[in-house]
Amino acid sequence: MTSKKVKQIAIYGKGGIGKSTTTSNISAALAKAGYKVMQFGCDPKSDSTNTLRGGKYIPTVLDTLREKKTVKAHEVIFEGFSGVYCVEAGGPAPGVGCAGRGIITAVQLFKQQRIFEELDLDYVIYDVLGDVVCGGFAVPIREGIAEHVFTVSSADFMAIYAANNLFKGIQKYSNSGGALLGGVIANSINAPYATEIIDDFVKQTNTQVVEYVPRSVTVTQSELQGKTTIEAAPNSEQAKVYTRLAQKIANHTESKAPSPLGVKELREWASKWADYLLALETGEVKSNALGL
Ligand code: ADP
Ligand code: MG
Repeated sequence: MTSKKVKQIAIYGKGGIGKSTTTSNISAALAKAGYKVMQFGCDPKSDSTNTLRGGKYIPTVLDTLREKKTVKAHEVIFEGFSGVYCVEAGGPAPGVGCAGRGIITAVQLFKQQRIFEELDLDYVIYDVLGDVVCGGFAVPIREGIAEHVFTVSSADFMAIYAANNLFKGIQKYSNSGGALLGGVIANSINAPYATEIIDDFVKQTNTQVVEYVPRSVTVTQSELQGKTTIEAAPNSEQAKVYTRLAQKIANHTESKAPSPLGVKELREWASKWADYLLALETGEVKSNALGL
């Protein structure tokens, strides 16, 4: 029997930008649609899968390995909403060691035990901290583990800065079998200027926006119940957005190498937008009159 090929996707972004919220909603929507999904948390915060598991933390791969020498993959995989397989790579004790080690260790463990094949997965979604694309954090891109990378970004400069850094990482490994970029998931996009900023950034860097996700209290309410929006408010507008996003990611095939901005270019680009935002704030302009 030949097993189907698992589609592996990595979702990167700055800390606190909404990676885990977005990833968990994508996983939940795909699982609800009948796919076999694993969500692989690669953030030392280890809370990636909480809203798939009633708000509860699960033991991480690194913690489990610290307790005993040999670990079976099944001991670190926990079932969540609609059968999503939940994994947290974990991190080192604060102040000691490389924060990316959990990812390397967990990926090796699953590879050795051929767990993706055994579970006959359709999708593995890595939720990865993207403030620094170094060492362990680059593993899903560098080793070609993930085929497609998406980044969650708001229109805030620091989030865009992190996305641009990720693009540099992807570009670096793009000729040696590394993952390619699927696009940007624009999160917390409510003001019209936020759409304009993100649209301009993807144009400058030769990529695309996959979906615009508004900031919504429905997300907060769901999270307070320890649930994804897909589970807690399946008929909400926000759940529709996440479902559409999940479908786009599931159907996505053509990723490419992005064209990141240089340090100076990025600064100039950001200051143009800052001037524009200031003009909006002081009432000097009412819409995108600067034609940026
Ligand atoms: P990350 O995984 O990138 O560190 P989280 O997914 O944990 O970030 O999100 C940080 C906080 O922002 C959470 O409290 C989450 O509920 C909130 N959040 C993220 N996206 C949205 C959204 N679209 N609307 C409302 N709140 C959001
Ligand atoms: Mg997170």
